[in-house]
Amino acid sequence: MRIAIIGAGAAGCFAAANIKARQGVEVAVFEKTGKALQKVKASGGGRCNTTHACFDIPELVTRYPRGKQLLRKSLYQFGPEDTIEWFRQRGVQLKTEADGRMFPVTDSSQTIIDCIWQEMMRQKVQVYYHKAVEKIEKRDSGFMLHFADGSNYEADKVLIACGAFPKPEQYRWLLELGHTIQSPVPSLFTFNMPKHPITELMGVAVPQVTLKIAGTKMVEQGPLLITHWGMSGPVVLRTSAWAARELNERNYGFKIQINWLNDVSEADLRDHIAQLRREQGKQLVQNKNPFDLPKRLWEYQLIQCGIKEDTRWGDLPAAAQNKLIERLIRDSYEVKGKTTFKEEFVTCGGITLSEIDPQTMESRIVPGVYFAGELMDVDGITGGFNFQHAWASSYIVAQQFNKM
Ligand SMILES: Cc1cc2nc3c(=O)[nH]c(=O)nc-3n(C[C@H](O)[C@H](O)[C@H](O)COP(=O)(O)OP(=O)(O)OC[C@H]3O[C@@H](n4cnc5c(N)ncnc54)[C@H](O)[C@@H]3O)c2cc1C
Repeated sequence: MRIAIIGAGAAGCFAAANIKARQGVEVAVFEKTGKALQKVKASGGGRCNTTHACFDIPELVTRYPRGKQLLRKSLYQFGPEDTIEWFRQRGVQLKTEADGRMFPVTDSSQTIIDCIWQEMMRQKVQVYYHKAVEKIEKRDSGFMLHFADGSNYEADKVLIACGAFPKPEQYRWLLELGHTIQSPVPSLFTFNMPKHPITELMGVAVPQVTLKIAGTKMVEQGPLLITHWGMSGPVVLRTSAWAARELNERNYGFKIQINWLNDVSEADLRDHIAQLRREQGKQLVQNKNPFDLPKRLWEYQLIQCGIKEDTRWGDLPAAAQNKLIERLIRDSYEVKGKTTFKEEFVTCGGITLSEIDPQTMESRIVPGVYFAGELMDVDGITGGFNFQHAWASSYIVAQQFNKM
């Protein structure tokens, strides 16, 4: 049996590493570039956020804006605990950070690369570089792979693990095979607010805000970071993932509303301010930041509301108070464009999931063809979820091949 794996990325290599070397089985990985596991190398800022310490599968699937139904099946077969165990058995310990992200204890993505690579070599996998598949031809028995350099390879089974492509035309050879794709759009990006005065507060981080996209039901909570180009941080990245399609349709021009006090309501805020005016009326508004906002953000908001440095809580005019309330809980910003988040970015879209059997990852359109990784219409928020999907889907395919 000849097994062809297209793509030497996380999914292709992990599948290859899990196909047991056997007499009569040949496993060949075809990679279009001159290197394997390149994204793993760059991942997580060079540390590789390998998985996430979330061991409850129903909870885990909520971290994926697309692909829940398939993941409900695949992550039960190979979840974060299996990832940890797989690497542990091969001498790689993972550690958990406060937010649940898991990294190798070495803090180096090379550790993950070396581990997968050694396992592939142990299983006698052949890797061929500069082999870009351009066409998969279905034959009476098996498949013929056609490469850009004019060469061919005959295979009985094919795993397509070529990752995602940013342009729809790059999926042509997959469409020719009979599959459909959900159009690709970027996910996991930060918001641009060119020349907006808030960007002068770059570096200011607020531990918990509520962020809404105006005109949609999209609401996210979490830490926000002000940058020199706009806004970033977990709440922004999560919003970009959940709203990836809507924001693409708006050409990345949209309005956001921020509650800097997270879930404090207008009524509670008014009560709080009334109490302040009664009990601490002599205090300067500027010095008495009652909401624990970062000092620079508090001062910025006071300036925006026209509240002078010498204003005391007791003397705060009603109009200025109303403005301040508005800016604290319904602060709105115009977003004009996006910036790629360098730590981790993914593509939303890919092979339509109803065309893939979630138990086996085999194509329902072309039996004998399998899928794994980001090529599928599955993507997670930042935190190790995208690799977890790559490991799970490719492990499942390897198990199918091991049974044959
Ligand atoms: C900078 C960055 C950092 C990231 N960090 C993290 C992280 O820390 N944690 C996390 O969970 N996720 C992270 N991600 C996302 C994660 O890297 C991807 O989800 C994951 O790599 C997908 O694996 P894959 O094998 O499906 O695709 P890829 O890793 O993209 O591999 C696909 C391979 O197929 C090859 N290929 C493509 N077309 C062909 C063809 N026609 N013929 C032959 N070969 C082909 C490509 O050259 C590539 O080597 C990050 C992404 C980026 C860009």
